Amino acid sequence: RVRLEGITQRFGTATAIQDITLAIPDGEFWVLVGPSGCGKSTILRTIAGLEPVQEGRLYIGDTLVNQIRARQRDVAMVFQNYALYPHMTVAENLAFGLRMRHRPIHERQEQVHKIARSLDIAHLLDRKPRKLSGGQQQRVALGRAIVRKPQVFLLDEPLSNLDAQLRDDTRAELKQLHRTFGITTIYVTHDQVEAMTLADQIVVLHQGRIQQIATPQAVYAHPANCMVAAFMGSPP
Ligand code: ATP
Ligand code: MG
Repeated sequence: RVRLEGITQRFGTATAIQDITLAIPDGEFWVLVGPSGCGKSTILRTIAGLEPVQEGRLYIGDTLVNQIRARQRDVAMVFQNYALYPHMTVAENLAFGLRMRHRPIHERQEQVHKIARSLDIAHLLDRKPRKLSGGQQQRVALGRAIVRKPQVFLLDEPLSNLDAQLRDDTRAELKQLHRTFGITTIYVTHDQVEAMTLADQIVVLHQGRIQQIATPQAVYAHPANCMVAAFMGSPP
């Protein structure tokens, strides 16, 4: 469970997000949408611990994590510009987080193969990242983040650099991955189709404030206001 209570974050005099309150139950897949600059990345970065909480309370599980540093939070984050370790093979990249946690080698190998199969990269395990396509690299990045089973998985437009076909394939794999591992996921996108197909709940943001939290069907059929209707392409 991830819970934000009244979180406000400012950059200088500008308010990036204002009074954000959300409670995401364990194992659910939530999608944050909204126009550029509405505060999506700021919310993810705050949960990850990359931005200190200025106002409000943030809980992961039952723990108040306001004062807990990024490395100590059991959270994994994947950005649009994935960065794999170039000198390591795919298998070594995937195993990295497990090695840091001193998991035994047989467990590492088992987990790496399992994740590689579900992301369709099992045939690439011995390659270096520079010998992979962009889509393959992004799948390795997703695998590397999720293989250590974080409590929370944060994804900031992870598919936006991929072409349409790869985006569809990777989106389907992500969904499958979520079914398999059941990790609480918060996913940021500009793409309404991604939001509609992936989300248990959609959070629509505008100018740093929550406009609506609802299922994809409800956001589409019963938008809370004109902004939501326009953004989600609902009928008038
Ligand atoms: P996009 O869809 O373009 O990625 P976003 O919804 O992720 O946008 P944020 O990156 O969260 O938006 O930014 C929210 C607001 O905070 C914006 O007005 C942005 O200019 C501002 N902002 C974000 N990061 C910083 C920063 N490091 N310094 C100053 N202002 C920032
Ligand atoms: Mg962003």
